[in-house]
Amino acid sequence: MSSTLITNIGSLVTNDPSRPGLLGTVERAAVVIDGSVVTWTGAAADAPAADQRIDAEGRALLPGFVDSHAHLVFAGDRTAEFNARMSGQAYTAGGIRTTVAATRAAGDAELDANLARFVAEALRQGTTTIECKSGYGLTVADEARALRIAAAHTAETTYLGAHVVAPEYADDPAGYVDLVTGEMLDACAPHARWVDVFCETGAFDGDQARAVLTAGIKRGLIPRVHANQLSYGPGVQLAVELGAASADHCTHLTDADVSALAEGETVATLLPGAEFSTRAPYPDARRLLAAGATVALSTDCNPGSSFTSSMAFCIAVAVREMGMTPDEAVHAATAGGARALRRTDVGHIAPGARADLLLLDAPSPVHLAYRPGVPLTAAVWRAGVREV
Ligand SMILES: [Zn+2]
Repeated sequence: MSSTLITNIGSLVTNDPSRPGLLGTVERAAVVIDGSVVTWTGAAADAPAADQRIDAEGRALLPGFVDSHAHLVFAGDRTAEFNARMSGQAYTAGGIRTTVAATRAAGDAELDANLARFVAEALRQGTTTIECKSGYGLTVADEARALRIAAAHTAETTYLGAHVVAPEYADDPAGYVDLVTGEMLDACAPHARWVDVFCETGAFDGDQARAVLTAGIKRGLIPRVHANQLSYGPGVQLAVELGAASADHCTHLTDADVSALAEGETVATLLPGAEFSTRAPYPDARRLLAAGATVALSTDCNPGSSFTSSMAFCIAVAVREMGMTPDEAVHAATAGGARALRRTDVGHIAPGARADLLLLDAPSPVHLAYRPGVPLTAAVWRAGVREV
């Protein structure tokens, strides 16, 4: 193994709480990586020698983005649905079934290639950790297949058999919950780290969601919840009660929901790509931050309601439409995502952290919001390997 010194960094985002400011920013900084980990951070003037030297030319270096919410094992496309929605039709959870039909009909190689393409697309934009859910199979074999394929690309795999009720069970949702908590869980648990449920009108109610999550917990999976996206509901409080790592969407929250998130350990993961792509009102990030909740930002990348893999886009929207400061949005897209995945090795830059680094083609991370839509990736390292 050889060490690499990245020096002449104009602005280094460490997310190190022992340094001043939310982002623990160091100006005129340097970082040393050795193998897959960071071994040194600090002022460039104090940097130790290394085998190789890279001149960052005054640009900003930040932790690779941690995208803690994505649905990437699918086939097909929903361009027509998006086009219709942008022409005035409302979004409902039922559109998921369109992708289910296409995904079931696809071969393993097609699903794997599609997933690889999106992981690579995200990596080119600075995402070095990405979560991936099942949920477009909705049979025992198709859900297990989705997780097997996902596990070859990421450690953060999530069993989402409870995405919507499978079409075969349209008249027997209780029977579908039995399948999801029984035979399907048995087939999927070996390939998954997390269990998730879409707790929403038109998907699964509070009692059904509780059954899905508790069954998953018994099998050693850690819960996370699609909660309070389209309407008020029990999802957020259930997530906090069951110790979920994250409650995702959090668009419609009562004061009690906000208090529960602020007092509990569950991260509030906001997915502005979904509101953007459905012309829906954005979640109130300021209300959550003011209450003391931990906020993460993720893409929710999926073919129906948020077909973006760009964390930079989510940061820009969060700043413009959700009242987050640029620092808060960058923190939520890195350290926040790591918290939402209970990862201590990513989302920050400090000795011992995985060397997941994003060099921006800009002097400051503020440019992620200041220059929306502009490709700003100068280089990306994942586990110490230069990928871009
Ligand atoms: Zn989702």
